[in-house]
Amino acid sequence: MTMLHREPAVRSDRIPTPTDQRLAGIVDRVLEGTRLSREDGLLLYDTEDVHTVCALADLVRRRMHGDITWFNINRHINYSNICALSCSFCAFHRKRGDEGAYEYSIDQIREEAIKASEAGATELHIVGGLHPWLPFDYYTSMLQTINEVAPKLHIKAFTAVEIVHLQKISKRGRLKYQGTVEVLKDLIDAGLGSLPGGGAEVFDDRVHNEVFKTKIRSDEWLDVHKAAHELGLNSNTTMLYGHVDQRAERITHMEILRKQQDHTLRDWAVAQGINDVPGDVVLTGDAGKYPMNRLPAPGHDGLDTGYFQTIIPLPFFPDKSVLEHLPGPSGLENLRTLAISRLMLDNMPHVKAFWIMQTLDMAQFMLQNGADDIDGTVVWYDITHVEGASTHQETTVGDLQRAIREAGFIPKERDTLYREVERTGSEWKLASAEK
Ligand code: SF4
Repeated sequence: MTMLHREPAVRSDRIPTPTDQRLAGIVDRVLEGTRLSREDGLLLYDTEDVHTVCALADLVRRRMHGDITWFNINRHINYSNICALSCSFCAFHRKRGDEGAYEYSIDQIREEAIKASEAGATELHIVGGLHPWLPFDYYTSMLQTINEVAPKLHIKAFTAVEIVHLQKISKRGRLKYQGTVEVLKDLIDAGLGSLPGGGAEVFDDRVHNEVFKTKIRSDEWLDVHKAAHELGLNSNTTMLYGHVDQRAERITHMEILRKQQDHTLRDWAVAQGINDVPGDVVLTGDAGKYPMNRLPAPGHDGLDTGYFQTIIPLPFFPDKSVLEHLPGPSGLENLRTLAISRLMLDNMPHVKAFWIMQTLDMAQFMLQNGADDIDGTVVWYDITHVEGASTHQETTVGDLQRAIREAGFIPKERDTLYREVERTGSEWKLASAEK
């Protein structure tokens, strides 16, 4: 049976003539596959010609991924909302004794893992608050228990701020970086498979001081991911924008991430004996310059370097947070920010339109404007609720596939490391696995 899919609204071979002449140089650089500068990024935010910004992001996305859009079958566990901190943008956290405060027992986590495995999920995504009294053993037991009952499930768990918290409560290592390495090693031994990208917010001291002062700063966030990459874990990254941040600060955030990824990919390539790697590792350019197949292999295949797989721009939701008086970003601002992320973060393989926070309709639209991944089926998500949504936020595989096809793309299921999955019902295996 031939699978029909609609023509996408924006085609990579039809870059419009910009109505804003200031964009002409950026169009040339994107067509050449040359890195965009900070000034370019600021202009992409400043211009009223959002159509050209999105068309360029779509061109880059198609150059890298063609008509493929990735999705996965996953489950989220937010193991506790009790948190020692009180970030002002966060409506998720509670203090001990507050109405709605909760924590999962290991038995509850075991049940969730079994349910996820029986439903055919390939991934558990686990994050929570910085719980003041749960011991380090709780976290290693959680991972070991999941591994025992559902060994095929990939565990993507703990944002960088949680890792720093675990480092403190486990009293691992007196030297900060070494302590991070040691705690990560313990977690890997217990079953950790990769790190999610949360907690990055916007890398800027002014924003940090204003809305999440007690949380780790960008240097610590980056160090946790650097340590994870050195230990062979892949990770994702995010940008929570649209609160007190300014657009220039978002560009700074992207530049910082891009610089760290440059170092990681260049060091890995040189270690592999690939010595012709340019200073700027531009994956979004001509495939001949730094082809995608020269990224560290998913699953690492004996190689021991991880990297940032995906940028996930996350719009701020004011509801029930201390910043409830702020309006939050508009849909157009979300679309523009995602497109700019695709254009500026030229060394990130993937851009995700996280449907839970963008809504499925908007995520579908974003696939035509820079995103190549729509995330997964989810089920329970406590962190942010789009207005009117409940904690139970689930979509079916059929709905995800339909949304992708309607946007003009071919849905492909992936595992956490972007390896293609073959599936019959809840039974699955990697497409690369031996037949
Ligand atoms: S954002 Fe994270 S660290 Fe900050 S209050 Fe919420 S749960 Fe705690």
